[in-house]
Amino acid sequence: MKGIIQDLNYNRICELVAGYGEPKFRAKQLYTGLTQGKRISEISVLPKTLKDKLLTDFEDCPIEIVQTLTSIDGTEKYLFRLADGNVIEGVLMKYKYGNTQCVSTQVGCRMGCKFCASTLNGRIRDLTSGEILSQVLVVNALHATGKERGVTNIVLMGSGEPLDNYQNVVTFLKNVTAEGGINVSARNISLSTCCLLDKMRALAEEGLPVNLTV
Ligand code: SF4
Repeated sequence: MKGIIQDLNYNRICELVAGYGEPKFRAKQLYTGLTQGKRISEISVLPKTLKDKLLTDFEDCPIEIVQTLTSIDGTEKYLFRLADGNVIEGVLMKYKYGNTQCVSTQVGCRMGCKFCASTLNGRIRDLTSGEILSQVLVVNALHATGKERGVTNIVLMGSGEPLDNYQNVVTFLKNVTAEGGINVSARNISLSTCCLLDKMRALAEEGLPVNLTV
C-alpha cells in the first residue's frame, strides 16, 4: 500500500515538495487542493511531473464514498471504501447550527460493547490520521458552499474506539483543527470513548480542547 498524503501536515508537505526539487508555492497548492477534498490527480494547478512523483509514492484516492443513504430529515449515511478495500461507515447530521459528521477511527473494534455491531469481527486495523481526515474532507467538499464549510462539527463515534488508536487520532485532531487547513474548531469536536482511563489522562495533557463523551 502506498502512503496516505493526508497524513502529512503543512510543514511536512513543504518538506516533501522540497525533496522533489519543486518550489515552495507548489506545497501550498497541493495542501489547498487536498484540503478541498481533491485527489492528487484532480489538483489541476500542479504540473504533471509533480503529480507523477506524488502518485508514485501516495494513494490518489485513500477513501471514496461508494454508497449514500439519505433519510427524510436529510441525514446522510455513507459507506466509505479505503484504498486496501476495507469499508467503514460515517454519518452527516444536519442541524440549524451546522452539519455534524460522525467519523470512524478503526476498521472494526476490539472493545466488545454488547450493543455494538462494529465489534462483531474484532479490530481489523487502525485508520491512519489521514484516513480519518479524508472522511471529513470528502464529505465537506460535498456540502461546502462558497466559504461556508460543509462540516462544522465532528463526533468521533463511528466504528472503532478512538483512544485505542491514540496517536493517529491525536494527529488527526491537530490536522483537522490546523489554521490554513479545514480548521474545524476543537470546541466543535467530541471524542467518544468507552473509558480507556490512561489514554483519557494522556489526552488531557495534549492541550486539545475537544469534548469528551464517556
Ligand atoms: S468502543 Fe465504540 S465501536 Fe467499539 S465496540 Fe464499543 S461502541 Fe462499538
